[in-house]
Amino acid sequence: MAEVGNELQRHAAEEHQAQTDGFHLVIDALKLNGIENIYGLPGIPVTDLARLAQANGMRVISFRHEQNAGNAAAIAGFISQKPGVCLTVSAPGFLNGLTALAHATTNCFPMILISGSSEREIVDLQQGDYEEMDQLAIARPHAKAAFRVLHAEDIGVGIARAIRAAVSGRPGGVYLDLPAKLLGQSLEAAKGKKSLIKVVDPAPRQLPAPDSVDRAVALLKNAKRPLILLGKGAAYARADADIRALVEKTGIPYLPMSMAKGLLPDTHPQSASAARSYVLAEADVVMLVGARLNWLLSHGKGKTWGGPKQFIQIDISPTEMDSNVAIAAPVVGDIGSCVSAILGKVGNDFAKPPAEWLNAVYERKDKNLAKMGELLNKEVSPMNFHTGLRVLKDVIKANPDISFVNEGANTLDYARAVIDMYEPRKRLDVGTWGVMGVGMGYAVAAAVETNKPVLALCGDSAFGFSGMEVETICRYNLPVCIVIFNNNGIYKGVDVNPTGGKDPAVTTFVPGARYDKMMEAFGGVGANVTTPAELEAAVNEALRSGRPTLVNAVIDPSAGTESGRLTNLNPQSSAKK
Ligand code: ADP
Ligand code: MG
Repeated sequence: MAEVGNELQRHAAEEHQAQTDGFHLVIDALKLNGIENIYGLPGIPVTDLARLAQANGMRVISFRHEQNAGNAAAIAGFISQKPGVCLTVSAPGFLNGLTALAHATTNCFPMILISGSSEREIVDLQQGDYEEMDQLAIARPHAKAAFRVLHAEDIGVGIARAIRAAVSGRPGGVYLDLPAKLLGQSLEAAKGKKSLIKVVDPAPRQLPAPDSVDRAVALLKNAKRPLILLGKGAAYARADADIRALVEKTGIPYLPMSMAKGLLPDTHPQSASAARSYVLAEADVVMLVGARLNWLLSHGKGKTWGGPKQFIQIDISPTEMDSNVAIAAPVVGDIGSCVSAILGKVGNDFAKPPAEWLNAVYERKDKNLAKMGELLNKEVSPMNFHTGLRVLKDVIKANPDISFVNEGANTLDYARAVIDMYEPRKRLDVGTWGVMGVGMGYAVAAAVETNKPVLALCGDSAFGFSGMEVETICRYNLPVCIVIFNNNGIYKGVDVNPTGGKDPAVTTFVPGARYDKMMEAFGGVGANVTTPAELEAAVNEALRSGRPTLVNAVIDPSAGTESGRLTNLNPQSSAKK
């Protein structure tokens, strides 16, 4: 009798071993496709998913708010060319993550938002389930694609489709809905293993049509005042060597968009950054490489763009062409293939642009750089933006391989102009929306994905959106140095309540706030600095030690302009006049 009992037990154990479930299949599918990190926030119904992912060798970074986890995943996608994965709970957690998913889609970053969800049967009948919400429908307009998996044996397909959708063509955010019941579903292990898909060539090259390349090269050859404009799509594409070769072989001045800075070092002689307004207005042929003619480029028209011009646009998305102005030479394909095809047609006989144009651009540039130098070197007390930036400019010059995260209004605008980048994909900023709140999510992901230090420069307002993640930075002991340019408010800290009432003005914060204490609260290093020398010492010490650090840099509260460089976007208020 005892033997039979043992036999039964053995059978049961074997059967048990031979089973897998939704939790394991999701993890196995991600790992099979080379996804190593998850950014998320555990809770019902995904706690065990996070736990098991960690137990199975994935790196799971647990955040304090899903939006920051989502922003981390979004920028991880930009940095790594693999979809960044964000994991959230249902309804409220999902909605918190959704902002980041929309951000990823808008910025063309590959990301997958995986959210647990309530039971479909109950949600669809609106019977009031725990955290009931039709997440799939809500995610769809904000994502490049959205999928739900209902059967464990379809998890492999679901993850494969999510990966392909995120990274192929124009990258973007993908939503993957995983109901609680699915995660607990069990399946024969062998069957489960067979159902997984290792995605072959997830972002296939897309070669441009040869005649489109000829058309573009002909335009370039006839240009009198050509300009190359590099966008973050060019940085993402990792065609660094060919892009540099194209710029140098043609001798054409180039302008990097914010996150394309460093694709070629900003100190490159052909950089026209310091002559931006001049080249945009004066160029006759502009070649866009992975940059859109959206608001950041004044839609390619109006005063900014001056006289008539012809555009060449290299982009993977055919429908991007003519979105704002006519594109004379569309070149549709992946940037690597397009640039190498163009390079192949730009022979050694390619005539450099007329000296008149180059001299005009570089003269302008030198003059503006000299002006900037004067601003930077002025000794002012209390510090203003430029005094602080002079220090950080030198820090990045001495540490070109660290990631530089940047958000704020004035803190963003001035830093973009002042701080030279030397390596591609190191400048991570507010992107297409000009959004605040990406700072700490980006900083965490940059540290995790690159295994190198991160310098995050935030305005005091911008930092507030994700500031609680200093705990995450301390918990994972990440080499992140946050510098807050603290001017006591949004734009600046000197507004007063016009009624004379006791509430503060709507744009001001607690004056003299000590953000450095937040970092100290979790065991990191805090520093409060008021001079450039103190700022320099604190940041260098942080980079040397690799310890989580927050430097509260006290800036003149009256420094700063309303909306930074975007004053033109404020509707006029008659009350202001
Ligand atoms: P920026 O803000 O720097 O101007 P945008 O995000 O506006 O950059 O534009 C990036 C463009 O790059 C998008 O139109 C996108 O379709 C394109 N893109 C992204 N990745 C690739 C790629 N691998 N090949 C070609 N185009 C790409
Ligand atoms: Mg401020």
